[in-house]
Order: sequence, then C-alpha cells, then structure tokens
Amino acid sequence: GALVELADVSKYYGNVRALEDVSLEVHAGEITCVLGDNGAGKSTLIKIIAGLHPHDTGTLRIAGEETHLSSPRQALDRGIATVYQDLAVVPLMPVWRNFFLGSEPTTGKGPFRRMDVRFMRETARAELARMGIDLRDLDQPIGTLSGGERQCVAIARAVYFGAKVLVLDEPTAALGVKQSGVVLKYVAAARDAGLGVVLITHNPHHAYLVGDRFVLLKRGAMAGSHLKGDIDLDE
Ligand code: ADP
Ligand code: ADP
Repeated sequence: GALVELADVSKYYGNVRALEDVSLEVHAGEITCVLGDNGAGKSTLIKIIAGLHPHDTGTLRIAGEETHLSSPRQALDRGIATVYQDLAVVPLMPVWRNFFLGSEPTTGKGPFRRMDVRFMRETARAELARMGIDLRDLDQPIGTLSGGERQCVAIARAVYFGAKVLVLDEPTAALGVKQSGVVLKYVAAARDAGLGVVLITHNPHHAYLVGDRFVLLKRGAMAGSHLKGDIDLDE
C-alpha cells in the first residue's frame, strides 16, 4: 500500500480555495512528482503533508491510517521529512553540525545530547560518503557549500534519521544544469534506499528524468495524473 495517500483533499484560505480535490499516492521506492506553475497549490500541498496546516476536506492516509496532521512534529514522528528550499541550515555552522541540527532538541533524553564531536563528524562523513557525497572539509561552514551540495547534505540527513517519506520543495529551482543533475542523482539514491519521495518542481524535464508518478496541478486543481509508463514523450 501507499506510504502517503491523499484522496480528494481540499484546502481553503478564507474564501481562497488553494487546493481542490487533489489526490496522489507516495509509495516506497518511488518518486511522486508534483508539477505546477506559481499559484498551482504546490506549497499548500507540502504544508499539508509536512503538518504545517491540516487539510479541510478529503482524506489523508499515512501507512493506510486516516489522519490529520496538525504539527510538523507529528509529520516527523510519522517518518515524513521535508527539505525546504531555504533548507533550514545555519550557514556559519560546520557541515557536520548542520547534519545533526534539528535532531537533538527533540530528543533531549536521546543519544544526541551526549554525542561527541568526533562521533558526529565521523557519522556525517560516513553517511555523506554512503550517498556518494565526498566533502573533504566537513568543518567548513555549510554556507560555503554550493546550493546543490547543501541539498545533498539535507537529503543524506533525512535518510540517516530514518525518514520513510522525503518531501523535497523545488530542490533544483535555484541550480544550474550540472548541480541539478547532482541533486537529482541523490534524490534517486534516496528512492533506491527505499524511501518514498515527493518531488515538487516546476521543471517537467527534471520530473521526467527521475519520476515514477506525476501529478499536475493547475490553479489548485488536478490537471493530470500519470504513471511513468503512461507518458509517451513522442506524442
Ligand atoms: P504554489 O506553491 O504552487 O505557488 P501556493 O500553494 O502557494 O501555490 O498557492 C495556491 C493558492 O493559494 C494561490 O492562489 C495563493 O495565492 C493562495 N494562498 C497561498 N497561501 C495563502 C495564504 N496564506 N492566504 C491566502 N491565500 C493563500
Ligand atoms: P525518535 O522518534 O527516535 O526519538 P525523533 O523524534 O528525533 O527520533 O525523530 C522522529 C522522526 O523524525 C524520525 O523517524 C526521523 O524520520 C525524523 N527526523 C528527526 N530528526 C530529523 C532530521 N534532522 N532530519 C530529518 N528527519 C529527521
């Protein structure tokens, strides 16, 4: 079954209908791409899946169980990790420190509080290497990395912390061709690690390169829904 399923989900901001009867599925080992221009409802969709605000009508199921998410904590606890465009990194902190950022405040009694610097650095290095990311200097401030490298660190971090579903908000939006390719490679690596990925993008080319399922949004409504095999690019 699906890790995450939306069925006929709608969301209103006052009188503005930001999403209208949107349905999609996220499966383990697959990438679900959500395409749409500005104002299509992509951010609203992310916020529902990330627990930033609950949907109004329709059904959200996580691992088959109907639910309303009303805080980011709830989404994280259900294994849904979201990597936002602004990435929530602290630019002046070392790369390895950013790798563990966000894990310790919520796990006060957990192992992270006592984790020593060497362990953190080694773990970050090993996890990045496992994803094929080779950063020689993990002590450099993460702000000195390229946008693509920062995205890769964020994706590796979510995989390490055991996310089941990875939601990526326009990960290639600010990147050039080469950097986009690198990031898409790690998106595919996360999928190959068995995660279900939601890739939000306005770039159809990037979507078709890695996607398994495609949902097209137009002014908040579904303008199309396809499986990879359904699409004939020669048409
Ligand atoms: P996208 O991310 O695809 O650009 P959004 O989800 O941001 O689309 O927006 C979808 C629609 O909802 C747009 O018409 C937008 O103006 C509206 N909208 C988004 N956020 C709010 C808000 N906080 N209050 C009122 N309207 C909003
Ligand atoms: P636990 O439930 O083991 O105490 P947390 O409460 O910190 O751990 O995390 C719950 C879920 O949130 C984890 O399954 C993981 O997917 C996710 N998570 C926690 N921290 C991060 C992080 N820094 N980056 C990505 N995902 C995280």
